[in-house]
This record gives sequence, structure tokens and C-alpha cells, in this order.
Amino acid sequence: MKYIFGPVHSRRLGRSLGIDLFSKKLCNLNCIYCEAGANAALVNKRGLATPTREIIAEINTFCSDVARLDSIDVFTVTAKGEPTLHLGLGEILLHLKKITSKPLAILTNSTTLTQASVRDELMPADIVIPSLDAARQESFSAVNRPASSLDLDAIIDGLTRFSQQFPQQIWLEILLVRGLNDSPEDMEALQAAIAPMRIDRIQLNTVLRPPPEATALPLSHDRLRAIAASMEKATGLPVDYPEPSGTGHASGSPTSARHQFRHSSPDALREEIVNMVQRRPCSAADLERVFQLGGPEQVEQLLEPLVKTRILHRSVHAGTRYYQASSIPLERPSSTSKPDR
Ligand code: SF4
Repeated sequence: MKYIFGPVHSRRLGRSLGIDLFSKKLCNLNCIYCEAGANAALVNKRGLATPTREIIAEINTFCSDVARLDSIDVFTVTAKGEPTLHLGLGEILLHLKKITSKPLAILTNSTTLTQASVRDELMPADIVIPSLDAARQESFSAVNRPASSLDLDAIIDGLTRFSQQFPQQIWLEILLVRGLNDSPEDMEALQAAIAPMRIDRIQLNTVLRPPPEATALPLSHDRLRAIAASMEKATGLPVDYPEPSGTGHASGSPTSARHQFRHSSPDALREEIVNMVQRRPCSAADLERVFQLGGPEQVEQLLEPLVKTRILHRSVHAGTRYYQASSIPLERPSSTSKPDR
């Protein structure tokens, strides 16, 4: 499948089938932590980079397999980039609601919520997961590196309007990068921006996987926990944050979805794995949770030929070894991440 991937397991969403609207990265931000790699160029105009009918055809194929459909908990619309830049988004969401009763989640970087038409298109969703990493221009520029036409105040205003209009769940994601958007001033500004919004929970995150930029450093678990506690107190909202590496799973990370790959041929299995790591760097343990191959060592053995032939890269980030597709450039060596040959 070209657009559908997974299911992956997220702590909050359960077994989530991903629908990736773009075949290559297309975004109006160039976040320093982006798991989809660096942007070729920033794009801030909605368009039809991939044909809506092809995406809908894949959704129909998936949904015609009752056993596979039964094995998932939720559809999650995402993209290598910003999904709301796809002009067919509204049609795709309406189609999903028409052909399945499964809940529908969508991720967005919030930038296009300035447009009433985008806010309206998101209405069929059951869960919207918008992100807002900073409410101070300096931090927004440093972490998200936006297209020049984007205005932070307008984005916050659009997100606030959307939150007051959308009747279902909104989980706001905030990704913190050490030294760039985690100061007390940043937290105060974020809390002030969030105050008029109607949101259901906040998901704090940090740089958990190999980033494209060496300057994208993670916060320690203790720091995240302290910020979560103070944000919970200030906003009165539940605030989640990822467990330390090895004891849990950040939102959206692949975990224990047992599924059809168990019976795939080695080649088909490798193809599915490449398909998965093209979307985000994965550790052997991540892949084992999804593909159930008998342990991370078996995953490493299976992937060794792909590393040797340079279809995949391996790198170490914060003490964990990750696999990345070769189309995503390796990060430069840093104090927390380095190539692993
Ligand atoms: S908004 Fe998402 S896809 Fe776009 S650059 Fe940031 S992390 Fe990457």
C-alpha cells in the first residue's frame, strides 16, 4: 500500500491505521526535530500533490477486508508534512466517516486553522491532535522554522477558534526542545495562549527519535515531568508526557499491534518495515512490537542486508539504535546521536 501504513499502537489511540496523504514531504514548517527529515522547500499553499481518488481507493481496499478492519481501533490521517495542505482532505474524511464506524483522528501542525474552510473540513473527525510548540515568535522561529508568510498570532487565533467550534476531542501536542522552547517565559506564553482554548488534554513530547538537526536536543524525563506538573496546575487539564526509554511508549510510537505481517514472506516483511521507517525512525524494539519476529535481535538480523545495501541507515540517538530509510538524511553526529555503522 502506498498511503496506508501500520497499524501502529499508540498509548492513547490504540491500534491505529495510518493514512499518509503525501508520498514525499510537503510542509509549511521545517521543524528542527522533524522525523520526516529536512524539507526540500517550504510549501504553504493547499494543493493536490497526491490524487484523492488513489487514497480513497486504498482506503476502500483496506476496508473491504473485514478481518483487517476489525483489527484496528482508529484511522489516523497524517502526512509526511502537513495533512491539511491536501485539498482533498475534506473529501477523504467524509469518505472515511461514510464507510466505517471506526473513530477518526487527524494530526495537524495548526498553521492552516487560520482558514475557515480548513476548520470546517476537520469537523467529521472524532479526535484532532493539533500541535503548538511555542507561543513566542523567537521560539517558534527557532524550533518550527516557518514559511515566511505564517503569522504566529494568527495561528494561535485560528487554533482558538477551531477549539471553540469543534465539538469532539482535541489533544494539543507540544514538543519541547532543550534550550529553544522550554524556558519559563515559553511555558508562561504557552499557558496564556492555551487559556481561551477548549481542549481536552495536552500531550508534552520531546525529541525522542533521531532528528535531522544536531541542535534538536531532548529534555530529560525529570524536566518533562516537572513541566507537565506545572502545566497541569496552571491549565487544569490532564498533561501526558512520554515514559522514559524502555519503560513505555510515546504517543504514536509503534508498539504491540500483532497482525498480518507474521505470515509475510521475508521480502514482503522487509518491504513493510521499510514502508514503516520511511515515515519515522524506528528502533528494533519498536519494530518488534509491531511485527512480532521473536525479539529485537531477530529484527536486526532481518534488517542487516538492508543496512549493508544502504537501503536503510542505522544511527544511535540518546542511547538507542534507530533505523531510517536512506531517503531521510542521517543527522550529523552530536552529543546525543551518532551514526552507527
Ligand atoms: S510540522 Fe510536522 S511534518 Fe512539518 S516540519 Fe514540523 S514535524 Fe515535520
